[in-house]
Amino acid sequence: MAATVVVIGGGYGGVAVAKALDDVADVVLIEPRDAFVHNIAALRKLVVPDWPGRLFFPYDRLLSRGRIVRDRAVRVDGSGVELGSGDRITADYVVLATGSRYPFPSKPDLDESAAAEARLRATHGALARAGGVLLLGAGPAGLELAGEIKAVWADKKVTVVDPAEDILSGGFAEGFRAELRGQLGALDVELVLGTALREEPDSEPGETGTFTVITHSGRKITADIWFRCFGVVPVSEYLTGELAPARRRDGHVEVDGRLRLPGRPNVFAVGDLTALPEAKLAKAAGEHAAVVAHNIGTLIRGSGELITYTPAAPAISLPLGPGGGASYSPDRGVLGPEATSRLKGRDLRVGPYTTLFGLD
Ligand SMILES: Cc1cc2nc3c(=O)[nH]c(=O)nc-3n(C[C@H](O)[C@H](O)[C@H](O)COP(=O)(O)OP(=O)(O)OC[C@H]3O[C@@H](n4cnc5c(N)ncnc54)[C@H](O)[C@@H]3O)c2cc1C
Repeated sequence: MAATVVVIGGGYGGVAVAKALDDVADVVLIEPRDAFVHNIAALRKLVVPDWPGRLFFPYDRLLSRGRIVRDRAVRVDGSGVELGSGDRITADYVVLATGSRYPFPSKPDLDESAAAEARLRATHGALARAGGVLLLGAGPAGLELAGEIKAVWADKKVTVVDPAEDILSGGFAEGFRAELRGQLGALDVELVLGTALREEPDSEPGETGTFTVITHSGRKITADIWFRCFGVVPVSEYLTGELAPARRRDGHVEVDGRLRLPGRPNVFAVGDLTALPEAKLAKAAGEHAAVVAHNIGTLIRGSGELITYTPAAPAISLPLGPGGGASYSPDRGVLGPEATSRLKGRDLRVGPYTTLFGLD
């Protein structure tokens, strides 16, 4: 009998592990959504709902042997998973791949793709009606959203507020920040840095309604819609029993070099929920998945060497609309708008997922 590998979460990391092990194990992928969310494209879909690239990819052609169980893991221990339905699935190997929550619209928050798409379209309508937009957070999501809005509605007043003294906290080169600050200035995006709002607007994020807020530095900002662009939360609250100690207070999950939970030889983790010291990226989740698939394959065969994951140095591609933005990696340095558009901004990397999900 083949070993059973239960992969919890069908995001970037989970689908890569499930696909890689489909030929060597009985793979069960547990995922509450009806389709994979390519959330790298979420902000483009918000500003251009009819953009031809896909945001949702149905799971039905992903695996040829394995199965997808449409449910949510509510309790996970070293030998299996209890689902929201009350069913239990036992496993020889468990892979935690439940990623993170971002505030809408950076990540859709509904499990049905039709409902998630309808919510994006409704928010598009609200955004189209707004003259002034307030974005809280000058990290990648806030800046990317500012660039997407300006690419479609150049005359909207966009203001970004962040308590940090500069855009993009984290280990990014000053030249990269300077390139982005220059492009944001040329787009007339106003950066209000080093201060926070005394109180959040009284309207809900993503809903139209004129408001005025005041920062601790005394600056008054009037706008018609706002979005929260900070507060990424790892999803790991289902860890119980002997797995619970691996969960840090902030929700990230400790892993060793082989991406196993400490002292748990059959439980692995990939992607945003890991406590690895690196930027939380789909690219990293894919690289974790390759290491975990290799290591589980090796354990199943009972021969060969386990491999180790080395956290990646900071590297990012941050579009400001389809034709703008900047990229940075330690080996290539800072790249400007043309290269960023080619690398990511134009097609938002939809192609590889079209192939993976059998939609060519
Ligand atoms: C606007 C934006 C742009 C980005 N652009 C880039 C980029 O260009 N390049 C890049 O590398 N990264 C980018 N990222 C980061 C990237 O989206 C994340 O790093 C990536 O989503 C992490 O993948 P993951 O597989 O760990 O988790 P996720 O993609 O978060 O997937 C987790 C999955 O687990 C499921 N799940 C949750 N709880 C349960 C449960 N209890 N049981 C079962 N399933 C569950 C969820 O439904 C989800 O499908 C971007 C992020 C944002 C917000």
